[in-house]
Amino acid sequence: MSEIALALHGGAGTIARHLLSPEAERDYRQALHDALLGGYELLRQGASALDAVEATVVRLENCPLFNAGRGAVFTHEGHHEMDASLMEGATRRAGAVTGVRRIQNPIQAARLVMEHSEHVLLAWPGAEEFARQHDLPMQPPEYFFTEHRYAQLQEALLSGRVRLDHSQEAPLEEPIPFDEDPKKKMGTVGAVARDQQGHLAAATSTGGMTNKRYSRIGDSPLIGAGTWADDRTCAISCTGHGEYFIRAVVAHDVACLMEYRGLSLAEACRVVVHDKLAPIGGEGGLVAVDAAGNIALLFNSEGMYRASISSRQPLFVGIYKEEA
Ligand code: ASP
Repeated sequence: MSEIALALHGGAGTIARHLLSPEAERDYRQALHDALLGGYELLRQGASALDAVEATVVRLENCPLFNAGRGAVFTHEGHHEMDASLMEGATRRAGAVTGVRRIQNPIQAARLVMEHSEHVLLAWPGAEEFARQHDLPMQPPEYFFTEHRYAQLQEALLSGRVRLDHSQEAPLEEPIPFDEDPKKKMGTVGAVARDQQGHLAAATSTGGMTNKRYSRIGDSPLIGAGTWADDRTCAISCTGHGEYFIRAVVAHDVACLMEYRGLSLAEACRVVVHDKLAPIGGEGGLVAVDAAGNIALLFNSEGMYRASISSRQPLFVGIYKEEA
């Protein structure tokens, strides 16, 4: 059987052991584990990398622990505006949506854009209308409501800052500006895969930043910044402070270093995450798989919710930096 591989993330940031209760940690690990095995089983049965990353991300979107789909963070006005994108490495076709409020699984809308429109990125009501026309399940705002995200919004409103935070631990009575928040975390989800045919795919989905306004868009729905897949090099899904990932064109840059400078996947990821992103202040990380099925899980933050498995590598689930 040709090498198959799957890696996923559930966000990166200041995720320290003392900030996560044992129960919360167990729940996160279980959710990462289940999403990974669900996607991997599809690959084992011969599914395409595209189907596997979509199914993996759908599962993470349906889990309220993560800042995507059901657990999406609140905007300044108290809504949810979700972004998603996906890319197919064999054809370099891509699809994305931004600012959608009612679509149950934004990653499915991104795939529809890729396969049933002549466009790459659809936005706000137009994207929802398109998804409705293709019978994607919609949900009322209550579906996306989670208590801890609402508390985060109240905290962010009090501090007057935009937050890349999906932590429920920050006490409401002590608002902390985002830049000084020791508990800041990013909860975007994403997956990359290599299938039995040797094809690669990447998918990313997010609720963006707590307290965001003015129709702010991060890197997650932007092909090249938050998501990239090319069978000749690699598939990448990013998570972190989106503005910096956009400025560093992170996902595409990893592929460029491999294609033009012949770097290995691990080396290309290291250069981008540590040498290029960190110096401009970009906190976060990425998951990646290359044409040979090698996996890289890299971040410059304190932690990243992550998991991986391949026909060569045993199942791995990690949260903190020190976990190999
Ligand atoms: N990258 C996402 C954004 O900036 C946030 C995240 O990764 O948590 O919207």
